[in-house]
Amino acid sequence: MILHPCFNEKVKGQCGRVHLPVAPKCNIKCNYCDRKYDCVNESRPGVTSTVLSPYQAVAYLKKVLEKEPRITVVGIAGPGDPFANPVETMETLRLVKKEFPDIILCLATNGLNIGPYVEELKDIGVTHVTITINAVDPKIGSKIYSWVRDGKVVYRGIKGAELLLRRQKEAIKKLKDCGITVKTNYIVIPGINDHHVADVAREMKGYGVDLFNCMAMFPNPGAPFGTLPQPSKDEMDRVRAIAEEYLPQMRHCTRCRADAVGLLEADRTDEFRGCLSA
Ligand code: SF4
Ligand code: SF4
Repeated sequence: MILHPCFNEKVKGQCGRVHLPVAPKCNIKCNYCDRKYDCVNESRPGVTSTVLSPYQAVAYLKKVLEKEPRITVVGIAGPGDPFANPVETMETLRLVKKEFPDIILCLATNGLNIGPYVEELKDIGVTHVTITINAVDPKIGSKIYSWVRDGKVVYRGIKGAELLLRRQKEAIKKLKDCGITVKTNYIVIPGINDHHVADVAREMKGYGVDLFNCMAMFPNPGAPFGTLPQPSKDEMDRVRAIAEEYLPQMRHCTRCRADAVGLLEADRTDEFRGCLSA
């Protein structure tokens, strides 16, 4: 049985996750994102109280595991993108695996720059990767991403969306070739991509993606999409039903912060905040 509460809903009451916030920078700009590092009252992806170095992250993890032994998964999910900070990300994964060889290693990324690291991730023992793919049509993608940065070059509009999509597809193929379980996160953005889910889910099925997670966009006031409404429950049900024609759906996602700790249904992020800064 897979002891990962996001990929296996049956264990969400027994197995928990911890996100290590070691990746502050990002290499793209999603129009729904407004990253803040000290936003303690918010629960949403991209937010964390503190950024840790790889060694601090392992020290923190030791404290967390002492107090919450039900943690089975260690993930890196920002607050930026793990592969806009590849040195810190890879070092953290190596250190965690050395100290805790049985723990499940997991990553969430936009997919732009994970490609060159896939073989190494497999060798370290990463078994679960999530890539957020909000469009498979660059015209739609160009409305979602303000810019995409590859090395020192910044691409905007269709060019940026095309580059991101090409890298995402290459990455999924490589990950699947390496036997890694892949989930697609799909942020449902009213009026922008809410009519596009069938195209994305169909294409992801073709690439062998294992699980599809439709997430309602959180309207961050400081972001360009901050004035759009949050999709309603009925709307999310509709979108998930369409996606389910192609791939199994994750319906229990809690849109965790980049420093989340605990069981999905008994989050302890607030309680562990002291350990983060200690
Ligand atoms: Fe924000 Fe994540 Fe998008 Fe980067 S990839 S801009 S951190 S939502
Ligand atoms: Fe799991 Fe969703 Fe939280 Fe990611 S954001 S750790 S998929 S529950």
